[in-house]
Amino acid sequence: LIEIGQPEHSVVTTCAYCGVGCSFKAEMRGEELVRMVPWKDGKANRGHSCVKGRFAWGYTHHRDRIVKPMIRESIDQPWREVSWDDAIGRVASEFRRLQEKHGRLAIGGITSSRCTNEETYVMQKLIRGGFGNNNVDTCARVCHSPTGFGLAQAFGTSAGTQDFDSVEHCDVMVVIGANPTDAHPVFASRMKKRLRQGAKLIVIDPRRIDLVRMPHVEADHHLPLRPGTNTAVMNALAHTIVTEGLVNERFVREFCDRDAFEYWAAFVSEPQNSPETVGTVAGVDPEAIRGAARLYAGGGNAAIYYGLGVTEHSQGTTTVMAIANLAMATGNLGRPGVGVNPLRGQNNVQGACDMGSFPHELTGYRHVSDDQVRETFETMWGRPLDSEPGLRIPNMFDAAIEGSFKGLYVQGEDILQSDPDTAHVARALSSMECVVVQDLFLNETANYAHVFLPGSTFLEKDGTFTNAERRINRVRRVMAPKSGMADWEVTLAVAAAMGFAMPYRHPSEIMDEIAALTPGFAGVSYDLLDRVGSVQWPCNEKAPLGTPVMHVGGFVRGKGNFLITEYVPTDERTGPRFPLLLTTGRILSQYNVGAQTRRTDNVLWHDHDLLEIHPHDAEQRGVRDGDWVRLDSRVGSTSLRAHITDRVAPGVVYTTFHHPDTQANVVTTDISDWATNCPEYKVTAVQVAPSNGP
Ligand code: SF4
Repeated sequence: LIEIGQPEHSVVTTCAYCGVGCSFKAEMRGEELVRMVPWKDGKANRGHSCVKGRFAWGYTHHRDRIVKPMIRESIDQPWREVSWDDAIGRVASEFRRLQEKHGRLAIGGITSSRCTNEETYVMQKLIRGGFGNNNVDTCARVCHSPTGFGLAQAFGTSAGTQDFDSVEHCDVMVVIGANPTDAHPVFASRMKKRLRQGAKLIVIDPRRIDLVRMPHVEADHHLPLRPGTNTAVMNALAHTIVTEGLVNERFVREFCDRDAFEYWAAFVSEPQNSPETVGTVAGVDPEAIRGAARLYAGGGNAAIYYGLGVTEHSQGTTTVMAIANLAMATGNLGRPGVGVNPLRGQNNVQGACDMGSFPHELTGYRHVSDDQVRETFETMWGRPLDSEPGLRIPNMFDAAIEGSFKGLYVQGEDILQSDPDTAHVARALSSMECVVVQDLFLNETANYAHVFLPGSTFLEKDGTFTNAERRINRVRRVMAPKSGMADWEVTLAVAAAMGFAMPYRHPSEIMDEIAALTPGFAGVSYDLLDRVGSVQWPCNEKAPLGTPVMHVGGFVRGKGNFLITEYVPTDERTGPRFPLLLTTGRILSQYNVGAQTRRTDNVLWHDHDLLEIHPHDAEQRGVRDGDWVRLDSRVGSTSLRAHITDRVAPGVVYTTFHHPDTQANVVTTDISDWATNCPEYKVTAVQVAPSNGP
């Protein structure tokens, strides 16, 4: 502090990493950002932060930042810096050419959960109104799309039910397929505090995550299930609850569809859902399943927190529905301390979904085939809109390889590194005639791009992010965009060049339009956010200051809907060639594909991905701790160093995906969730063998 001097002024803004959405004071001296200080009045973090939000913002100034637009004729040519006008002109003329030659549906775009709500909104507006099709999708496709679909079927809304404060009233915490101490550290601290006060803990995860055993916190039950068996275990918990008479009859009678409940209760009571049968399939002690079910149903206020270990499976949506069934059957909804709480990975994945980024939905999750809804948008936008859903990301890839999809605008997402089956993605990208990448750095996807549009960091723009508890937080401009334009301005310029004017002067005007078109956002404005700090949607005439807890006194859809969740094993099977199951996750100091955190001092804590392997499996293969190993699956192979640990069970290996030199997704397959196409990142049959390195 003595060296850098006292800051002169500060700007309150929101962290751009995980879905906790911590508020920070960006402390400035002149135009220079001195430090980020967690804001004590931030409702999501109350003055706390983690090593990412507090320290890992230096990528904003990193020498790798690309701040000038660039174009090239083909991907084997060098990049050439051009003016913004030339770059935008190239995008518009190429997209128009492709549509004239190959039809209206030949192009599309991908929005980013890293961008603001306002940027996401104008991006999908450009595609629907300017491109004239619904070929818009979002990186939520590969993470929480099953949450959106599954919870909408059960409860009527595509979002978590509680606020973070709710954890303070929780008596039993169930953590499924999530690792909060690494991925959502500030909220994990609140969980730990409650656990230290005496709340019980059930962890359902193939890996012994930190929460299972740490100082003053120990799980009452850890179910180390075999990857790919989540649905079976949820059904076994339900079996115990129903057959042992632990259902909350009053809640079901009052708030749920009785016929659906009866049908579901008969289904889960069947022998294939018993703890004995499921225990064999999932590799879990049946008594531990029974104990966990009894504790969840009878231990007071019980809340389920889950992450990508639930959604990124061939049955991701089914497991989300199974979780919803458990919460309804035990009456754990509609009050503080309970609920179904998806822990969203990215800062604005909730917002990206809310803002109409899916190919079948306009803002607020309204289907594009709804004539009345579409007409409202058509009147506001002055453009006719397509009533047919567009292509999802994997469909775009398939259509590109097949030859009908020719142009893609990717905003703030490194699809080559983050989507599964890297070779397939590369083939799709190289089949397209115009790939436009808008990003901070020349990421892996940019290797296949024809136009590069420089992106802006969260410090360089105004807007809002919506966190995992539906909280809409303000993002405030701390410094001018290094490229001269914020992301929303770039999208507006592309739209204008394509003849679709969107004359907003400030993101607040974009939010005003979102509020006018979206019932759940009707009361949201920058004035309100500046006045009260943040609000949780729905925020409208019925809830002018937002809604911390949803489904109080009844479900949004009317009666809660029990859904049949039959366990269907994934097609990804182990066998003699690939006898181990790989699952993936994150580490505290790094974030996703690492594009930002690798360009900060956080890399000192973690500069390469490791493969966790059980001592028994390592010994069988002659692998020692720190050795290079080769990881093979049926779609690809990579090399990384081994870390021998009993955190993983025999037969299971685990790695992170933060470093492009590993490219963990080279080995993940194209199997995806039956309802949403969310990739099955969490189950890949692999073999591990000693190697000499890459
Ligand atoms: Fe940022 Fe998440 Fe860390 Fe909060 S917990 S500082 S939102 S990365």
